[in-house]
Amino acid sequence: MDKIATKEINGGAFIISKTDSNQVFTPEDFSEEQTMIKESVVEFIDREVWPNKVRFEKKDYAFTESLMKKAGELGFLSIPVPENYGGMGMGFVSTMLVCDYISGASGSISTAFGAHTGIGILPILLYGTETQKKEYLPKLASGEWFASYCLTEPGAGSDANSGKTKAVLTEDGKYYEITGQKMWISNAGFASLFIVFARIGNDKNITGFIVPKENSNGIELGEEENKLGIHASSTRQVFF
Ligand SMILES: Cc1cc2nc3c(=O)[nH]c(=O)nc-3n(C[C@H](O)[C@H](O)[C@H](O)COP(=O)(O)OP(=O)(O)OC[C@H]3O[C@@H](n4cnc5c(N)ncnc54)[C@H](O)[C@@H]3O)c2cc1C
Repeated sequence: MDKIATKEINGGAFIISKTDSNQVFTPEDFSEEQTMIKESVVEFIDREVWPNKVRFEKKDYAFTESLMKKAGELGFLSIPVPENYGGMGMGFVSTMLVCDYISGASGSISTAFGAHTGIGILPILLYGTETQKKEYLPKLASGEWFASYCLTEPGAGSDANSGKTKAVLTEDGKYYEITGQKMWISNAGFASLFIVFARIGNDKNITGFIVPKENSNGIELGEEENKLGIHASSTRQVFF
């Protein structure tokens, strides 16, 4: 277990608040497990990413997806996911070490990785029901499925709660029908599951839904966006 306690600090308060010495960790503190995970992610990056840097600049989205698959096979997509949901069950320091090396290697792979492991997996891990966790986390942890997070809309960016996407309960009360448009959605081109935010009725706040990408769900994607950087990170509009 990591010795770092998860003490909640809001916003930028970490810059000015006092830090306890037991909250600080250095490489000398790494456990055998943490050192091992660090070495294996460094080896993965050296072998799979650095020699292929040019492919990222050429918008090789399929290459990013194949790297994500390999990362999943090696367990890098599921460091903090508990073992009973198919993850590695490791703590904060190991999670940070994997993110550190993946982020330092390529913006494209780090965006795909962050969208999947952070905003894709964590909403289910932190807020999902037991049934949802058992159904979706093992597929996402292994890289069998990839996740996307659909919050931003053409008229709702920073002010995300002003989104216009609607969720209406079907007459039989079993499903929600979602109608709306999302934009700048990372991993949209190869995701099997979307975390989608929509407003139910006149609710004050929007609600998060888990939406698998099945044909019957009527999801359509826009073209890949032309970006100034992170060229091989898939960014598309998603229509519900
Ligand atoms: C490459 C890329 C990938 C992305 N991936 C995803 C994704 O996977 N899922 C997703 O949902 N979204 C994604 N986004 C969207 C991203 O989250 C939004 O771009 C972001 O929330 C900002 O929204 P906006 O672009 O509409 O800018 P705006 O909200 O219009 O902001 C424009 C500027 O105004 C400033 N501003 C806004 N409001 C205020 C205020 N009240 N006071 C002072 N300044 C303010 C902002 O700081 C910013 O500088 C992605 C974006 C990019 C570029």
